[in-house]
Amino acid sequence: MRYTNSHIVVLGAGESGVGAALLAVKFGNKVLVSDRGQIKAAFKKELEENSIPFEEGKHSESEILTADLVVKSPGIPDTAPLVVALREKNIPVVSEIEFAGYYSAAKTICITGSNGKTTTTLLIHHLLKKAGFDAGLGGNVGTSYARQVAEKDREWFVLELSSFQLDGMFEFKPTISVLLNITPDHLDRYNYEMQNYVNSKFRILQNMDHDSWFIYNMDDPIITSEIKKRKPETNCVPFSIKQPVSFGGFSDSKQITIIIKDQFTMSIHDLAMKGKHNTQNSLAAGIAGRILEIRKEIVRESLSDFQNVEHRLEFVARVNGIEFINDSKATNVNSTWYALESMEKPTVWIVGGVDKGNDYSELIDLVKEKVKAIICLGTDNSKIIETFKSVVPTIVEASSSEEAVAFGYRLAAKEETVLLSPACASFDLFENYEDRGNQFKTAVRAL
Ligand code: ADP
Repeated sequence: MRYTNSHIVVLGAGESGVGAALLAVKFGNKVLVSDRGQIKAAFKKELEENSIPFEEGKHSESEILTADLVVKSPGIPDTAPLVVALREKNIPVVSEIEFAGYYSAAKTICITGSNGKTTTTLLIHHLLKKAGFDAGLGGNVGTSYARQVAEKDREWFVLELSSFQLDGMFEFKPTISVLLNITPDHLDRYNYEMQNYVNSKFRILQNMDHDSWFIYNMDDPIITSEIKKRKPETNCVPFSIKQPVSFGGFSDSKQITIIIKDQFTMSIHDLAMKGKHNTQNSLAAGIAGRILEIRKEIVRESLSDFQNVEHRLEFVARVNGIEFINDSKATNVNSTWYALESMEKPTVWIVGGVDKGNDYSELIDLVKEKVKAIICLGTDNSKIIETFKSVVPTIVEASSSEEAVAFGYRLAAKEETVLLSPACASFDLFENYEDRGNQFKTAVRAL
């Protein structure tokens, strides 16, 4: 529903909140931006320049609880007292993506999953751009969708959707959606109930019908069992790296194959991104491309020349024959599983940080096979040490990136790898995962 001349409150003044405020004002709404913390100077300036009232360090309930609609930042949990009060008053609370969708006629490709969202979103956007589509990029990456819609609507948007964004989505209908995988993550926000998190991911399907397409990972047991239960009434397109399919996409050790209307193949060695997880991401992107009938040469070219962003299995440097890899974005066990799985040389593994309820035992077999030493990089490493002390002979603790890199350099031999893949959030020792990855890279380059 398109709101005009209404009273709209935006909770949280980050990129998505400010984008939503700009969009709301453009359509003649009265807006208040309210942030309980401090608002970044650049955002404040922008709000001022656009004469948008804002408050920081507090939430004025009298203003907020009389709103017609509230656009909530994904960072604010549904259990926050203010959000509970809004629900009690039946004031709709939506996410920035839902809100922007009210004002956009664009077709969308929406990517969700526990891991691989950013990579796959960027890859699909790269593919659409190469094919000459008028396509924007939004969601959790870069400029917010709302800000872009306020500036100029497009024919297509490729959007990365987190479960928190999905929780605030009700009417939104993707043209194509991708569900990459579902493994435990963010359970602290889902009452420690996995099914709540699964339901949140499956909200992506809620309005999809016969003219939309749902691309999903059929190797993921949670996804397949949910699909059996839910029987979605949309065009479902599976992909697998384990078995061939007659419709959808699959890979073997040599090539990927995509069958939509006809058959597309490409050598696995020509894919820009290595590792099984990236084969999954490439399959998902390739399927989206073929659904849109993008020419095979263009799909092939895009999957082979894509350059991913930093901190995702990023090669940093080789120092005295030791290879250093930065996978700081691996903030849960599953993404680290894929990182370890793709290691081809004996590995010194840097792990640790803020544990989100991790079960490290899933990594034991891989660690036995690939890891020669562990460097813990967190304030509380007890769970990691407990899990791996009988598996890996050397486990040390570091309290900074420099110390971890120095240990890595000492413990790894020529032709071995030092991998930062923490399986944890970074807030104990770092500002965020980018800061952790950057400090790691700086320390490596200083060796
Ligand atoms: P997200 O946006 O979902 O956090 P990213 O693309 O930023 O995902 O990647 C996050 C981490 O997950 C990286 O460490 C990356 O190597 C790993 N990863 C990427 N794709 C996948 C996948 N399909 N399955 C599991 N792990 C993945």
